[in-house]
Amino acid sequence: MAEFYVEKNAQGNGNHVVHTAYCSLLPSKETVHYLGSISNTQSAVKKAAELLRKQASGCSHCTAAYQTI
Ligand SMILES: [Zn+2]
Repeated sequence: MAEFYVEKNAQGNGNHVVHTAYCSLLPSKETVHYLGSISNTQSAVKKAAELLRKQASGCSHCTAAYQTI
């Protein structure tokens, strides 16, 4: 399990990036939504997309360890 956050601001491609709590690229707490303690990246990305009603994707720097195979 990991604590996941999603950025409120979209990237240039329209995706909102999902991070884990300990990512060095995680922006300040005012600019992210807390998603909760979630077991894998796919579930966190799905939850972020539902919350924002926008596209979301996992941060390549921090979420790779939580991908399901
Ligand atoms: Zn990250």
